[in-house]
Amino acid sequence: SEELHIVGGGMAGSEAAWQAAEAGVPVVIHEMRPKVGTFAHHTGNLAEMVCSNSFRSDDDTSNAVGLLHWEMRAANGLIMSMADQHALPAGGALAVDREPFAEAVTARLRAHPNVRVEEGEITALPDDGRWIIATGPLTSSALGQAIAAETGQDALAFFDAIAPIVYTETIDMEKAWYQSRYDKGETEEQRKAYLNCPMDRDTYEAFIDAILEADKTEFHEGETADYFDGCLPIEVMAARGRETLRHGPMKPVGLTNPHQPDVKAHAIVQLRRDNALGTLMNIVGFQTKMKYGAQKEVLRMIPGLEEAHFARLGGIHRNTFLNSPRLLDERMRLRSRPNIRFAGQITGVEGYVESAAMGLLAGRMAAAEIAGRDLPAVPQTTAMGALVHHITGGADAKTFQPMNVNFGLFPPVEGLKGGRRGRKDRYRAYTDRAKTDWQGWIAATAPEPA
Ligand code: FAD
Repeated sequence: SEELHIVGGGMAGSEAAWQAAEAGVPVVIHEMRPKVGTFAHHTGNLAEMVCSNSFRSDDDTSNAVGLLHWEMRAANGLIMSMADQHALPAGGALAVDREPFAEAVTARLRAHPNVRVEEGEITALPDDGRWIIATGPLTSSALGQAIAAETGQDALAFFDAIAPIVYTETIDMEKAWYQSRYDKGETEEQRKAYLNCPMDRDTYEAFIDAILEADKTEFHEGETADYFDGCLPIEVMAARGRETLRHGPMKPVGLTNPHQPDVKAHAIVQLRRDNALGTLMNIVGFQTKMKYGAQKEVLRMIPGLEEAHFARLGGIHRNTFLNSPRLLDERMRLRSRPNIRFAGQITGVEGYVESAAMGLLAGRMAAAEIAGRDLPAVPQTTAMGALVHHITGGADAKTFQPMNVNFGLFPPVEGLKGGRRGRKDRYRAYTDRAKTDWQGWIAATAPEPA
């Protein structure tokens, strides 16, 4: 049958290769390491974990990433089965003995009768054949340029500058209010695109001190570049002058606090709706390199966010990723060249587990296509479906930033208690529903026996 070419043998490429090979499709993995390296990889193994050795929570009843583990295990996932074989004790998390893990993934793939590994960098977009590009956050620069030439420079980012994202339900609405600046927006929906948190002078001054004093992460060697234009970290802005933030992302103009209409705020933090469901809000302009612990403390000084829970914290990293909502169709194919799929972190998901998950889907979809079948859409109620839906259409293309899996991406389960108290039951309901629907999808898409 027709060959499937996969560029990049990382988390996503390895899983995609396994899924397609298991479906009977001959696969060629093109991996540039060890010939060409990156600043973060140290070996020539497939599926090398570049930093932490954790697959995060393994709790599949109340955690979205644990649910993703479950779904991959239920779909014959190679990355999960090798991670399970090389798990290290880590409480509720799945920590992995990284070298034996990567060696095992490499050995399993190299031993598969349908898999061939070709070493070497791919530097151009292929014109024909069926391809999955899974070259990750550190995509080589030649291929990055080739992708940018196809998609347009502004549709491929080489860094991410992530503003922290808050679960809307954890924002104190006795302090915050919905309003867009100067009441822009025609519909009620548009006016509700922004939430505002007011600050008085003392809080602002204490906030600036806390930002300046917070622990920050350093850049890796070889990681920096001229990325600062338009996305300065808040601590860099704060260091330029105590008033800089008040004249930038925290400017208190064009807004009226309905809780205190007569008090003029000294500064206002704005949050923008981050998904169509309205369950997530990002803090506008708050990209930062503050360490996670320090960051939470500083952000909870913002009136209205004292009890905030974060779907993700802010950061700035070297990261190559597509504006997927604009560029990819719901089957992860490049709209302008449907023979090319993308998978992994380059599609705008974030993390080992999410990347492997998108590889699993891309591998299955490509294999089905080669077999002349079109897979039905993955239900959005599953962790897989919630993620792929988010990157290929649920997220706003204008403000698209990489995303971890989280329950904010799931359609709400009706008829359950809201707020903090109902959370545990709600997550249980999400995960139960997801498991049923994922098993249904797998059964419905199983190849017909030969
Ligand atoms: P990768 O695993 O990076 O795989 C991509 C592969 O493509 C690589 O093997 C690369 O050599 C190859 N490649 C690139 N360009 C070409 C080319 N032109 N031709 C052929 N091959 C090519 N995630 C976490 O969950 N936890 C962490 O602690 C964490 N820390 C990170 C630290 C750093 C410094 C970076 C950069 C990323 C980190 N990530 C972390 C994100 C992590 O890298 C990804 O989640 C995951 O590895 C992405 O999987 P992937 O398959 O998309 O990319």
